[in-house]
Amino acid sequence: MTDKPTTSTPSSPAAPGAPATPEAPAAPGFGSGGFSFAIDFSGDAGAGAGAGVALGQAAPISAPGGPSDGADGHDGSVSKVVIVGSGPAGLTAAIYAARANLEPLVLAGVEPGGQLMITSEVENFPGFPDGIQGPELMARFRAQAERFGTRIVDVDVERVDFSERPFRLWARGVEYRAESVIIATGASAMWLGLESETRLRGRGVSACATCDGFFFRDREVAVVGGGDTALEEANFLTRFASKVHLLHRRDTFRASKIMLDRASANEKIQIHTNVAVEEVLGGAKVEALRLRDTITNDERVLPMEGLFVAIGHRPNTAAFAGWLAVDDKGYLVVEGHTGSQIDGVFIAGDVHDHHYRQAVTAAADGCKAAIDVEHWLEARGIARASTVTAW
Ligand SMILES: Cc1cc2nc3c(=O)[nH]c(=O)nc-3n(C[C@H](O)[C@H](O)[C@H](O)COP(=O)(O)OP(=O)(O)OC[C@H]3O[C@@H](n4cnc5c(N)ncnc54)[C@H](O)[C@@H]3O)c2cc1C
Repeated sequence: MTDKPTTSTPSSPAAPGAPATPEAPAAPGFGSGGFSFAIDFSGDAGAGAGAGVALGQAAPISAPGGPSDGADGHDGSVSKVVIVGSGPAGLTAAIYAARANLEPLVLAGVEPGGQLMITSEVENFPGFPDGIQGPELMARFRAQAERFGTRIVDVDVERVDFSERPFRLWARGVEYRAESVIIATGASAMWLGLESETRLRGRGVSACATCDGFFFRDREVAVVGGGDTALEEANFLTRFASKVHLLHRRDTFRASKIMLDRASANEKIQIHTNVAVEEVLGGAKVEALRLRDTITNDERVLPMEGLFVAIGHRPNTAAFAGWLAVDDKGYLVVEGHTGSQIDGVFIAGDVHDHHYRQAVTAAADGCKAAIDVEHWLEARGIARASTVTAW
C-alpha cells in the first residue's frame, strides 16, 4: 500500500494552505521537504495577489463587518458572477469565468480548497501520472484561477436574497451583489467524531472508498455504516482488500435488501452488527479498532489497517435555505444542465451530485456552470458578446 499515511492532514482544514506536513512528499517544481507552494489561502486575495505570496505574509482576513473598500473583495460594485465555494467545482468555474472576462469573485469559504484539503494522495485526477497531494492540487487550482484575475475572499456566505437582481449575498457582515451566482459549496463527509479518527485521517482513515480503496490492496479494512453507501463501499473495497469488515451499530440496516444480499453473499465481507467504533488505534497509521458491543458494552480490539467511514455526507446548503429546491437527501436540485429554480443562479459539484462525488466530475460541473453563466449574461447584454471566450 502506498500508505495513505503520509497525508498531511490537518485534522481540520481550518488552516488551509498551510504546509501539508513535513512528511508530505515534495512534488516536482515545489519546495522540497514539504509542501511549500506559496499560495495565499489565508484571507482575501485580489487578482493575482495570492500567487507568490508566502504563507504567513498574506493579508489578514478582514474582520466581520469590516471594510467595504475592496480589501474584502467588495468594492460596492455589482459582480457579473459571484462563485460560492472553492473546491474543484468553484475554482474551475472561476478559471473559465475569468478567462471569459467575467471578473469573477469567489467567496471561498472558511475552509477554502474543499474536501481535497483533508486527503493526501490523489491518484485519479487526470494530468498527474505520479499522483498529487490533495492540498497541493487545490493550491494549483487556486493559482490558476488567480492568474486570470479571479478575486478570492475566504469567507462563508451566511445568507442570500435571491428575490431580485442583482442578487445579494452576505458574509461576515459584508454585502456582495451579483448579476449571477454559481453555488459550488460541496458536501461535507460525516465522521464518527472520535479524536483518534481525526488524527488518523489520511493515515488509514478515509471517507471515500472510490478515492482511497486502491491504497488497501491485500489489506484488512473496515467500513462503518448501515446504509446503501456503506454496503456499496464494502462491496467496492473487496476488489482490493483481503477482507472487509462491515461494522454497524444496530442489527437492522437502512440499506436496500438487494445491497444487503449482495454484501452477505460476498465471502470477503464479514458483517458485524451491534458494534460501535470507540477508538481507532495506531500511531503513524491505523493498526486496530477498539469496538464496543452496543448490547453488552463488552469491548474488544480488532486488528485493522484501514477504516472507511460511510455514515453519510451533508450538503452545504444552509445559506440558501428557502430559496432553492432540495431533494430528499438535502442536495440542491439542478434544472436543465446547471441551472436552478432561480433564473441566474447556477449549481455545480457535490452540492447537488451525490452520485459521482469526484474531483474531476465536480470540476467538469464548474466548467459547465461557467459556460452557462457566460451565455446567460451575454443573452441579457451584461457580458458583451465580444468578450465571450473561444474556450
Ligand atoms: C477523504 C476524501 C478523499 C477524497 N479523495 C478523492 C480523490 O482521491 N479523488 C477524487 O476525485 N475525489 C476525491 N474526493 C472527493 C472530492 O474531494 C469531491 O468530490 C470534490 O472535492 C467535490 O468538489 P466541490 O467543489 O463540489 O466541493 P468541495 O470540495 O466540497 O468544496 C466546497 C467548497 O465550498 C465551501 N463552502 C461551503 N459552504 C460555504 C458557504 N456557505 N460559503 C462559502 N463557501 C462555502 C467549502 O469551504 C469548500 O471550499 C475525496 C473526498 C474525501 C472526503
